[in-house]
Amino acid sequence: MSRWMDARLGQLEEYVPGEQPQDMQYIKLNTNEFPYPPAPAVSERLGRGEIEGLRLYSDPTCRVLREKLAVRYKVAPDEVFVGNGSDEVLNFAFWAYGADGVRFADITYGFYPVFAALHDLPITVKPLRQDFSIDPADYLSCDQMVVIANPNAPTGLTLSLDEIEAVVRSNPEHIVVIDEAYVDFGAQSAIPLTRRYPNLLVVSTFSKSRALAGARIGFGIGDRELIRDLNRIKNTTNPYNINRLSMAAAEEAVESRAYYEDCIEKVIEAREKSKTALREMGFSVTDSRANFLFARHPGIGGKALYEALKERGILVRHFEKERIRDFVRITVGTPEQMQALLTACQGIINNGE
Ligand code: PMP
Repeated sequence: MSRWMDARLGQLEEYVPGEQPQDMQYIKLNTNEFPYPPAPAVSERLGRGEIEGLRLYSDPTCRVLREKLAVRYKVAPDEVFVGNGSDEVLNFAFWAYGADGVRFADITYGFYPVFAALHDLPITVKPLRQDFSIDPADYLSCDQMVVIANPNAPTGLTLSLDEIEAVVRSNPEHIVVIDEAYVDFGAQSAIPLTRRYPNLLVVSTFSKSRALAGARIGFGIGDRELIRDLNRIKNTTNPYNINRLSMAAAEEAVESRAYYEDCIEKVIEAREKSKTALREMGFSVTDSRANFLFARHPGIGGKALYEALKERGILVRHFEKERIRDFVRITVGTPEQMQALLTACQGIINNGE
C-alpha cells in the first residue's frame, strides 16, 4: 500500500480468484466455466462490423440486451439491470442495500464477505447444517439484507422455491438477493417471484451456462425501483460498464436457447455420471445441482488431492477453509475431460501412483 492510499482501503482483504493459467496446458476444471463454446450465432455476430463499431461508445442503457432478457424471463425491460459480470451486480447490491448488515452462509461464494468489507457493512454469518445444506430458518425475519446463492457454491446444494419465497416474504423491510449463477444446471429460478415481491433481487450471469465468462456479463432482475437504484450507482461509477463486443455476444446468446439447453443437458449428464463414479471410488460427493462437484476422499486431504491432480495436468479448486479443507471443487467438463479426471483420481487413491 502506498502512503497515499486511504488507510481503511489499504486493509481490505482481496478476493482471490481461481488460477487462470495463460498457457492453457491444463484440463481446466477449477473456475466453473462452460466446457462447450459459445453458440454459433455469437461467433457469426462478432465480425468486422462489430469491430469497426468499437470506435463508438456502447449503449449505456443496454437496451437491446435488456429487451431480449425481458422476453426470455417474462419481465419488463425496466426490471432488468446488466452488469459487468454478476460480481458487479452483487457489488452494487451490497453497496445499495447492506447498511443494516448482510446475512449469508459460512460456506458460500467467497466474494460476499469481500463486498461487505469494501462497503464497511456489518455481517452475520450463518453456518450451514452439518450436511452443508442451508437452513432457511436462519434467514427468516432477520432485519438485514440476505444473500443466498441457489444453488450454493461450492456445495451445489439447492433450496426449493417455497423455501426462498418464505425468506423473501418474511423480510419485507430488507432486500433478499438470490444469486442464481448456477441455476440453469438444476435449481428453480426465483425470477417469477420478483413480480410479487418488491424486495427480491435475482442475480444471474452469462459466465456459466452461456459460455461467456470472458465477456463479463451478468444481470439482475427485480422490481423497477431496485433496477433504478442499481442504475444510479452504475451511472455514478461507470455508465459504459458493458463493452460493445460483450453486449453483442450476450444478445446472440440469449437468442440461442436451444443450443445452450442441449449443451447444459450434456453437462448435467456428465455431472451425474461423474458423481456416481466418484462415489464408487469412495468419495463423499454432495448432491450438486450446479456445474461442479464438491468431493472428499477419506484417504487423502483436499490440498494433497488438488496438488496430485495438478501434477497430472488437471486443475481443480481447493479452499483453505476450516470446514471444507478436505474437499475439492471440480467443474464438470466434457465427458472426455471427466474421464481423464476419474482416471487420475483412481490412480491417486490407489496408493498415489
Ligand atoms: N456468484 C457465484 C455463486 C459465483 O460462483 C460466481 C463465479 N465466481 C459469481 C457469482 C460471479 O460470476 P461472474 O462475475 O462471472 O458473473
